[in-house]
Amino acid sequence: MARTIPDITLNDGNTIPQLGFGVFQIEPKDTVAAVRKALEVGYRHVDTAQMYGNEAEVGQAIREAGLDRDEVFVTSKLNNAFHRPDDARAAFESTLSALRTDHLDLFLIHWPLPTRYDGDFVSTWQVLEEFRRDGRARSIGVSNFQVPHLERLAAETDVVPAVNQVEAHPYFGNEQVRAYGAAHDIRTEAWSPIAQGRVLTDPVIVDIAEQVGRTPAQVVLRWHVQRGDIVFPKSTTPQRIEENFRIFDFTLDDATMERITGLDRGPAGRQGSDPDTFDYIPA
Ligand code: NDP
Repeated sequence: MARTIPDITLNDGNTIPQLGFGVFQIEPKDTVAAVRKALEVGYRHVDTAQMYGNEAEVGQAIREAGLDRDEVFVTSKLNNAFHRPDDARAAFESTLSALRTDHLDLFLIHWPLPTRYDGDFVSTWQVLEEFRRDGRARSIGVSNFQVPHLERLAAETDVVPAVNQVEAHPYFGNEQVRAYGAAHDIRTEAWSPIAQGRVLTDPVIVDIAEQVGRTPAQVVLRWHVQRGDIVFPKSTTPQRIEENFRIFDFTLDDATMERITGLDRGPAGRQGSDPDTFDYIPA
């Protein structure tokens, strides 16, 4: 299938495909098949993390697909257990060796963990700046950062994150964080873009899907890309992996976009954890 995915230009001049493939909660044993299917369909961007436990299998799938490393945009994220600078350096090396690559396209601080490490995510960010300087991370960014966290990085560090990967979907628009990003040239990546399936049976989404002759997942993913966000839906179902890729050959009009945006339930609509209090550290 021809590649049809738009590239988004980041604040450091690098580009990222606006649609990717997420691998959270894909068992290592299922990861090679899922990622190979996604690459076969045409995805050229994979979002993994050390905490997902499947970086090695993502790397294996890319090699088995016969693609050059530079044909696929690969993101990974720092394990919550390794925010201290020396730990972060070692964790980044483990990520590179698991993926069997000498660089990442994008490396993120997975969570700010403001109640851990004496609230110091600044020195962790400065270590990511080193990875960018030495070229092993082409772009660096953050994930689950709230506005005060981003303000603190702006005040105390040199590099503006290229992206902030946060929860966003029709039930939780995360508008304040998105607005801060838009104002400061930080691209928003929307995680759990279909709220792990929860929004797909919403009567408004189902109604729109019928009107435009698309599936509920395609409608919701299309809404994200028209908002300008980067998305990487996860699926281990081959037919859904294909379905989620076919979102660049139709458009939603302004009234339809507003109907979907109107489903926002504020913080009550969150599917995942609140970054201000989330403090999980793997054993
Ligand atoms: P998603 O919103 O992508 O939803 C995935 C779920 O929806 C799965 O159960 C999947 O089922 C189902 N699904 C996928 N496509 C369809 C479809 N077309 N129709 C019906 N059901 C469908 O959830 P995720 O939480 O996985 O988020 C996506 C990615 O975001 C993650 O994989 C990860 O890369 C990233 N993420 C990042 C976080 C962070 O803290 N930075 C936190 C959470 C996610 P099935 O697989 O059975 O087909």
